Amino acid sequence: MKQYVITVLLGALLLLAGCSGRDGLSSSSHVSSEDKISDFTESSEPIESTASQEESKPESLAPQESSNGPSASAENPSNGVNSDATVIDPEDNWQLMLINKQNILPEGYTPKTAEVAGMPIDERVAPFLKEFMNAAAENGINLSVISGYRRYSTSERLYNNKVAEYVSQGYSKAEAELEAGKWIAPPGTSEHNAGVSADLMTYHYFQGMPMNEEMGKLEEYKWLAEHCAEYGFILRYPADKEDITGIHYEPWHFRYVGEKAAREIMSQGVCLEEYLNS
Ligand SMILES: [Zn+2]
Repeated sequence: MKQYVITVLLGALLLLAGCSGRDGLSSSSHVSSEDKISDFTESSEPIESTASQEESKPESLAPQESSNGPSASAENPSNGVNSDATVIDPEDNWQLMLINKQNILPEGYTPKTAEVAGMPIDERVAPFLKEFMNAAAENGINLSVISGYRRYSTSERLYNNKVAEYVSQGYSKAEAELEAGKWIAPPGTSEHNAGVSADLMTYHYFQGMPMNEEMGKLEEYKWLAEHCAEYGFILRYPADKEDITGIHYEPWHFRYVGEKAAREIMSQGVCLEEYLNS
């Protein structure tokens, strides 16, 4: 009996430790990513019906709207974007356009979109994304799109909120912008602003799995990485290319580049920056 009580107590303690450990993981700072916070809100914006379930997470992380400083990304070139960044022409070879903090979209760029699984995405990408998702489904992988096209203004709001949050913690404006940029892509620097990328989630995410590198260990994401090129997509932010892309490993973020380039990029194990510079 005594032994039983001890066992039960031990079990309860382990359970408690497990729970707190898991919470610690989901909110830990090392899961910084381009999508981590932003996508929850992004995805809710265009689709009203999903707003209630997704709006809560970012709001708890971001400061109140009222504490938001003046929105000035267009006027202030230091607003998270490299001061010598090039403004790209999205219609010039759109499949291979490079979008990052050095190569930015024109302010307010708005692609024509079509919906895939309820989320807007560049209409030229939509049929390929459907094919990719259908193929995954045939292999038992049911996917949801939690972020496709993201409005420039949404990126701007999220980014400014994050900057304000750091400023309120005592960071200087410049430091705040630097830190915020590690979490949220400044407006114009995200592929989501062009609608050429999709963040694909399996049921694990809806069961509470945090968006971090651990997702890449799931069989589902291994399959996606292995087959995405057949449908014209690449894993845009690979694990071993963080120094080049400036973005943490994102097993869920797939960029459409067309089948030929996708096959070359994925088989060579390079990232888009390397591919375009070679
Ligand atoms: Zn993404």
